[in-house]
Amino acid sequence: MAQIFFGELSSEEVDKISSQEALILIPIGSIEQHGHHLPLATDSIISQEVTRLIAERINNEFPVLVFPQIPFGKSTEHASKPGTISLETEVLTNLLRNICKNLVKNGFKKIVFINGHGGNTNLLNTMLREIREETGAFITSIYLYSETFLKETLDRFKLEELDVFHACTLETSFMMTLKPELVHMEKASKEKPHKFTEESGYKYLKLTGSKGIEFSWLIDDVSDSGVIGDPTKATAELGQEVLESLVEKICEVLREIKKV
Ligand SMILES: [Zn+2]
Repeated sequence: MAQIFFGELSSEEVDKISSQEALILIPIGSIEQHGHHLPLATDSIISQEVTRLIAERINNEFPVLVFPQIPFGKSTEHASKPGTISLETEVLTNLLRNICKNLVKNGFKKIVFINGHGGNTNLLNTMLREIREETGAFITSIYLYSETFLKETLDRFKLEELDVFHACTLETSFMMTLKPELVHMEKASKEKPHKFTEESGYKYLKLTGSKGIEFSWLIDDVSDSGVIGDPTKATAELGQEVLESLVEKICEVLREIKKV
């Protein structure tokens, strides 16, 4: 199999592959509290592993490279919890912009962020067009937990909206599949949000989102343990199945990006 990790190639090898119009995949995650049962790097581990699986699957169709991961993200909503390391908007934006500019200088024209943390989404979406305008490169941001990828599987497993939130059923299941040694199920507990749900009397200000409405919720508004959802329902089998279909669907997106 061809080499897929950017940082493991020599200068010469990178130069050669950039002329073949390789897609650059940049996994981005976060370092933030994930309840008592998951590690701080949960989002980073998941985005890194999903990116690797995608690259391994699609690499025989066209060249892709997995760029060194951006381990930090924008985690303001979890800043009150120990261990959370959140970059400020300007710092993260400048970091990503700089990386993209360097990649373009090196001949890469298509860059895809594979994002494992919801808090990064707005920032990524804002900077895509700015970077394109500035460098000419085509930039895409793919959020792993979007409905586009998960709807079918969630319906099949009868999972609810809050099963895909934070340190929840799905995230815990992914970790059980990818890094079981880092999951401490004996410490996992379910926590329903204290507010911002229909059950607690909110029609529009909902954690699960209302199209066109954003508000500044912080973890302490809604959870004591840091969990939003029910990790006790997690299984490695669920993680494996969802991962499989997620990787397949993201490969379809990459085929479209290649065509652009
Ligand atoms: Zn997470």
